[in-house]
Amino acid sequence: MSPQEVLTMCRERDVKAIDFRFMDFPGLWQHFTIPAGKLDEAVFEDGLGFDGSSIRGWQAINESDMLLVPEPSSAWIDPFTKLSTLCMICNVQDPITREDYSRDPRNVARKAANYLKSTGVADTCFIGPEAEFFIFDDVRFDQTPSQGFYSIDSVEAEWNRGADERPNLGHKLRHKEGYFPCPPADQLMDIRNEMMQLMIESGLDVECQHHEVATAGQAEIDLKYDEMVAMGDHMCKYKYIVKNVAHRHNKTVTFMPKPLFSDNGSGMHTHISFWKNGEPLFAGNGYAGLSDEALFAIGGILKHAPALLAFTNPTTNSYKRLVPGYEAPVNLAYSQRNRSASCRIPMYSPSPKAKRIEFRCPDPSSNPYLAFSALMMAALDGIQNKTHPGEPLDKDIYDLSPEELAEVPKTPGSLSESLDALAADHEFLLRGDVFTEDVINTWIEYKQKNEVEAINLRPHPYEFCLYYDI
Ligand code: GLU
Ligand code: MG
Ligand code: MG
Repeated sequence: MSPQEVLTMCRERDVKAIDFRFMDFPGLWQHFTIPAGKLDEAVFEDGLGFDGSSIRGWQAINESDMLLVPEPSSAWIDPFTKLSTLCMICNVQDPITREDYSRDPRNVARKAANYLKSTGVADTCFIGPEAEFFIFDDVRFDQTPSQGFYSIDSVEAEWNRGADERPNLGHKLRHKEGYFPCPPADQLMDIRNEMMQLMIESGLDVECQHHEVATAGQAEIDLKYDEMVAMGDHMCKYKYIVKNVAHRHNKTVTFMPKPLFSDNGSGMHTHISFWKNGEPLFAGNGYAGLSDEALFAIGGILKHAPALLAFTNPTTNSYKRLVPGYEAPVNLAYSQRNRSASCRIPMYSPSPKAKRIEFRCPDPSSNPYLAFSALMMAALDGIQNKTHPGEPLDKDIYDLSPEELAEVPKTPGSLSESLDALAADHEFLLRGDVFTEDVINTWIEYKQKNEVEAINLRPHPYEFCLYYDI
């Protein structure tokens, strides 16, 4: 869509407001609005000024004026606003130099896509994320999760009340049995359908939606793979739609990776493949039908994983998901069948076009632009340096001896560990000026101060359980 076509769309759809969207540094969509009458072709050229000083992780107050320059091709009508509103995704620029802002996450992804082309290794990186999330009632989730989840303790308490007073809980989903009986056990079918439908109407290509394994209203909606910058944009829209549909139903959604102790967390397994001249580069005659490029890409991902996780698993909560027993990866290894391995090679289709690597570590608390860029750069580094991925981890991990298991490198245990790994290993991200030293340092400082230290400073509810009566 050209600027002219956007203006025509505004007239035809009787648009009253124009909303400018951009992603902040940690990964939350931000916006501001102008009356539709103020949008003209000049806005697409000159952009609109805003104060960037209060945006998390961005400019200091003395250099805070910034420009938002809308992408006309991203225009769509917001399905949630009362007043007819057209939204556009924007790039962030310095108003004086007109340079793209280096801490704009979308800019990082655009540079990553361009850098890939410039290397000649591939011209396109396709990304397919499988984001999971929880839908909770709009009250404290630990008391009333959305889907009639009940704990064993509460069942026993009810049982002790006597038969005539007992509620019938037999029809409710039991622990980890949410995947995936039909309604009425699945009470979130209508909400997920509504999310799916609005995504389609907003231009997203949805592959499927389903309940996930955790008991209390865990959901997954999958999009068809797309080029990496486009997929960053899609994920912004995706989260916006998911949260707003939930809000309509007096529910709330969280993308935090591990909201509930002792139940599955929410991942965002990310499928990645490189293409050149319309041909897939990851299909070949090697292990699991992979090409040498794909195996080297796995080598790069596994080699840089501890640092990479600072972007793909960027919260303190992320590391509460990466533990054994919940289908989340804990081993820095690859396999065509083992779900505890960080890199899995899906075998659903024999088509070379479907050949891809599924990196299972990422979670949906990540900033999609930064996570996809960092993953692509690690895979590319592996290809450029012919990094051998080692042997696949095909044995059932329960059949491995403790000595064998100890040999397999593990995912980092905390955000602090990943940030340290990123500080020590980020050369691969700096190539092509994709991530600058400033972006890396700001990320580490921001996460360390606002999240790692902030959590360390606060008493934890479980400490009361352990120590209160000491
Ligand atoms: N929820 C699991 C995770 O944390 C993944 C379940 C699945 O295989 O889809 O990664
Ligand atoms: Mg899943
Ligand atoms: Mg998966």
